[in-house]
Amino acid sequence: MAKLTDYERKRTRGKTPEPFGGKRKGKDPIFVVQRHDARSLHYDFRLERDGALASWAVPKGVPLESGTQHLAVHVEDHPLEYATFEGEIPKGNYGAGTVEIWDRGTYELVEEKENGGLTVRLHGKKLEGLWALVPAHLSGQEKNWLILRKRDEDAPEPTTAPRGRPRRYQPMLASLAAEL
Ligand code: MN
Repeated sequence: MAKLTDYERKRTRGKTPEPFGGKRKGKDPIFVVQRHDARSLHYDFRLERDGALASWAVPKGVPLESGTQHLAVHVEDHPLEYATFEGEIPKGNYGAGTVEIWDRGTYELVEEKENGGLTVRLHGKKLEGLWALVPAHLSGQEKNWLILRKRDEDAPEPTTAPRGRPRRYQPMLASLAAEL
């Protein structure tokens, strides 16, 4: 179970409508992207991991075109209940502003690297396909990750090859480095 200490330290129960603590019993892990109109507008990308929501603030939003990448600032884990949260965080509270759910759904963990990097297949209403979260340490800062849209190797590709021929797969190795 991930620790929500940072999350709880920054917030006051009863002063913000945001949820605190708890667990969810489900089958497929969930993801949510929340549009957060705070001091500066950003999108919060959250993945269910170990009973909490691993979270990144993405100033430019989730990249949609394959091969594109955006800064994703790793922030504190949030409770699972946060995935359904929408509303106003009152002035004077952490993250004051408006939170709206931009997209949500389930995901499959496709790959988890030793350095913490993740590749996920999202099944949302807007987001469908593969994304990678890369601990890129931009500007030497550990919190500065990248989120990048990956080509979906499993999706049918336009091809001139005769029918029935086995499809060719791109080698998975080095594709991240090449895209960075
Ligand atoms: Mn936020």
